[in-house]
Amino acid sequence: MSEEITFYKCATVPLEMHRARIVQKLELKPVEERVRAITEAGNNTFLLQNKDIFLDMLTDSGTNAMSDRQLGATMVADDSYAGSTTHERLETTLRDIFGKEYFLPAHQGRACEHLLAKVFVKEGDIVPMNYHFTTTKAHITLQGGEVTELYYPDALDVESANPFKGNMPPEALREAIATYGVDGIPFVRMEAGTNLIGGQPFSLENLKEIYAICREHHLPLVLDASLLADNLYFIKVREDAYKDATIREITREIADNTDIIYFSARKLGHARGGGMCLNDRDTYLKLRELIPVYEGFLTYGGMSIREIEAIAIGLEETMDLHMINQGPLFTEYMVDELVKRGIPVVTPAGGLGCHLDAMQFVSHVPQHEYPAGALAAAMYLAGGIRGMERGTLSEQREADGTERLADLELLRLALPRRVFTLSQVQYAIDRICWLYENRELIGGLTFVEEPSKLRFFLGKLAPVSDWQDKLVAKFRTDFGDSL
Ligand SMILES: *Cc1c(COP(=O)(O)O)cnc(C)c1O
Repeated sequence: MSEEITFYKCATVPLEMHRARIVQKLELKPVEERVRAITEAGNNTFLLQNKDIFLDMLTDSGTNAMSDRQLGATMVADDSYAGSTTHERLETTLRDIFGKEYFLPAHQGRACEHLLAKVFVKEGDIVPMNYHFTTTKAHITLQGGEVTELYYPDALDVESANPFKGNMPPEALREAIATYGVDGIPFVRMEAGTNLIGGQPFSLENLKEIYAICREHHLPLVLDASLLADNLYFIKVREDAYKDATIREITREIADNTDIIYFSARKLGHARGGGMCLNDRDTYLKLRELIPVYEGFLTYGGMSIREIEAIAIGLEETMDLHMINQGPLFTEYMVDELVKRGIPVVTPAGGLGCHLDAMQFVSHVPQHEYPAGALAAAMYLAGGIRGMERGTLSEQREADGTERLADLELLRLALPRRVFTLSQVQYAIDRICWLYENRELIGGLTFVEEPSKLRFFLGKLAPVSDWQDKLVAKFRTDFGDSL
């Protein structure tokens, strides 16, 4: 049965396909309060307090809205330690959706990565993937392995018309196999809705080609399905061959072209948790052994039983085009409106949120003064909006202390699914535009407290000049005494 996809063409604005029945009060603090808050946070948006934030666009991890059905299901959870019917419900749902025989629960996505790396990766191994994710790479390198990223040249272009920037070039995979040998490659990894390049999808055609090569060489293909929902939507609307397929059919075809599927249920399924699905019994037994050691008993794997109920329903709801379209449609609206106004942003629109290109936005701020970090601080001052720096600040210094300059300087404004209304998105666009008009006022940042590892989480910075005072003065001139 074909699903209607004309819905998104007949409306000039994206439509919320739900109504809000439980709400959370937000506060928009006056700009002077925002100056105090960002100063106390050391100009690091990770250190802001939620009470000081109007629109929290830091991440979509564990922040997507649950449905009434999900919340209802949490109340009927079976919390017996062993033989829980709740576990059985999730297992049955996953078997139905992915068609894989076995399911293993884990407390979140990175826990799956930990166990997969432990079972598969040995010293000196190379894992080819379309692009790395922070935690994936960490677990592979902790096992003594290395990551090699195989992508088309335009995957890292800020502006592009490529609808599938997450594709892996098949010839590059063949080359990697020739170079490292089958014995040096424990598995090949494809990431759906490729996170760090802007929530960009792969095509089903590409996945099939990659899987065929893996089959030929008896290499397992592992799918990181954390951001699968967005990728499903993009296959449906961007890949001609699948425009008449249902989301359920597309999902099954993806699953049939992978050996192991793992996911973070903080994203997929709109709850909190994770898990792995597979058919190979030997691999299943090896992974299963580790679950009680690192995660918890096999019926919960570190997850709360209420979350497991919510994931089962959330996965069912993910098979609905009108649910999974919400993230991409709102992102597309935001990106299109910014492009129309000449504001530099990653295109085509991905699934995760909107990514401003700080390299162009504040081109006068040198990279060693963290342009994306400076833009994140300025965005908070301008609108109480919290984004996440993805640039040099998120890198680690070289061993000799010199800065490793990032390829891209992005400010990610994530759109957690079904959380923000269109008027809130429009407000964000307005404030981004105001900031762009006043971009010359934005200056750089410098560290005052710099942790040696993952400095972006806890590091504290200060403005290199009095640029924030000038920005706030301009805000008052333009907006009077409004917020
Ligand atoms: C978030 C994420 C993970 C890690 O999942 P957690 O539940 O946060 O541990 C892995 N891969 C991708 C693509 C993700 O977006």
